Amino acid sequence: MFLRSIFFNTNILQTLKNALKRLKMPKTLNLKYFKIEEFASPDDLKSSCKMNKKFLEKLDYARGNAGCKFVINSGFRTIEWNAKIGGRVGSSHTKGLAVDIHCVDSRNRALIINALISVGIRRIGIAKTFIHCDVDKDKDQDVIWLYN
Ligand SMILES: [Zn+2]
Repeated sequence: MFLRSIFFNTNILQTLKNALKRLKMPKTLNLKYFKIEEFASPDDLKSSCKMNKKFLEKLDYARGNAGCKFVINSGFRTIEWNAKIGGRVGSSHTKGLAVDIHCVDSRNRALIINALISVGIRRIGIAKTFIHCDVDKDKDQDVIWLYN
């Protein structure tokens, strides 16, 4: 009886320890369509871990909904890289909240934009060769803009 209760308590302790461990561990990211490396700043190949995880999950769902390839032209940008390529100061790319998806034709443009909207992405920029999207809450929501 005594031994049994000790055994029981030990199990509870272990269960609690495991639960705590799980809480402390960063949530692992399971992307079906992307490799995390695709989102790295070209000047810091480990920087893809700075991408917002919820955003990447949304993007992954969007990619599934679209059914066409999402080639990432630009994901995370270090401040230095952003400056080098002429990105705006305060760019959502430097916060890990934006990507540019390669796109050059009208069919894929429609598929990609519809899919982004379907997962709740509310900021989209359209250029001739890419589609920018971000989830930067510090900026205007529900907007689609054009790049010259
Ligand atoms: Zn962009």
